[in-house]
Amino acid sequence: MRWFYKCPGCGAEYEIEPGRYLCDACAARQRPDRPLEGVLECAWEGSFAGSPDDIPLPVAKEHLPPLPVGDTPLWEPHRLRAETGYPRLFLKDDTCEPTGSFKDRASYLVAGFAKERGITEIALASTGNAASSMSGIGAAAGLKITVFLPKKAPVAKRVQVLQYGAELREVDGTYDVAFDQSLAYSRETGVLSRNTAYNPLTIEGKKTVSFELVRDLARAREHEAKRSGHLAELAKKDYVAPDHVFVPVGDGVIIAGVYKGFEDLVRLGRIQKVPTIWACQAEGSSAIARALAAGDFGEPVPSDTVADSISVDVPRNGAHALAKLKAHGGKAVVVTDAEILAAQKELAAKAGLFAEPSSSAAWAGFVKAKAGVRPDETVVVMLTGSGLKDVAGAMKGLGL
Ligand SMILES: *Cc1c(COP(=O)(O)O)cnc(C)c1O
Repeated sequence: MRWFYKCPGCGAEYEIEPGRYLCDACAARQRPDRPLEGVLECAWEGSFAGSPDDIPLPVAKEHLPPLPVGDTPLWEPHRLRAETGYPRLFLKDDTCEPTGSFKDRASYLVAGFAKERGITEIALASTGNAASSMSGIGAAAGLKITVFLPKKAPVAKRVQVLQYGAELREVDGTYDVAFDQSLAYSRETGVLSRNTAYNPLTIEGKKTVSFELVRDLARAREHEAKRSGHLAELAKKDYVAPDHVFVPVGDGVIIAGVYKGFEDLVRLGRIQKVPTIWACQAEGSSAIARALAAGDFGEPVPSDTVADSISVDVPRNGAHALAKLKAHGGKAVVVTDAEILAAQKELAAKAGLFAEPSSSAAWAGFVKAKAGVRPDETVVVMLTGSGLKDVAGAMKGLGL
């Protein structure tokens, strides 16, 4: 199996190497205040020799850091199933990643790449979770991590960065300012950038969730068949694709990674088709939903939402995510802060899963979009970050 970078825009191919981030020709079209142009994708050719549940990745397994990333639980929330009327509803719980968020999937692959190539330092900008994630994963891997973080990031995420021993550079400004400062730092020093979307491995690392879903949904069906005595069901395929996946969306990297995973699964013949993916956005940060409705991105609107991890003015991976949504008939649903906070409370009080506001946006999205989902379909709601990461946000939902 040969790995390379491929530009989904013009098809240009590049070698996977530390200094390569964007497609040269397409990045030249970059305009200020617009999503990144020329975002590259990891591509492969040849046959995959892994065992049935293996995930093809562009980094050899032995270089991945020694901590348990991914393989997160798939919940079967009986009370929510009964109340919503969806017996095949599942919650994918990435709140229990090592640093408490889905971002670990990306940091894990980037750290593995650094180890494989003998790189000792990684720099990044973040609104909070990417920073705490890269700091924790980097600590386990023995890498130096330099983080550019806006001063207004939730305190728990800042404390994580410091506890993990990363170098924290606080930025007096927005995430956009932090993004530019971190790129300038990487350019000057030659340090590997883990900026989301900009480094293609961040997208590739996030695809692992789709592989886990089709494996674990098959296991769930097997258990159900044994329990109910429908043994004919047991002879069915080894993998089960969900019909719908609800994903919280800010920069659009997670959703692009989820798509990449399902595309790979179709190519490997493990599933027949890519599920319907719902981009769940906060009303105060809905650039990708607006672009899907209008056909393209317009002028940026300053973001304003309680869900800090999906609060972006310009979604860095917006162009790439929009292309995937269009190609696969994906949908978008926009939810208010009140709906997000109500969803957070409902998940905690009825399933026992305490998720941060940004990730509760996915549950709010499902609740709002139910008319577009048949009750017999298999639905997965992705919960991407722990509620303990933003206690101030959760307090708002309690009126405290
Ligand atoms: C980063 C993040 C998201 C959004 O991911 P994008 O790739 O920016 O769309 C959602 N939930 C949590 C908890 C996050 O940290």
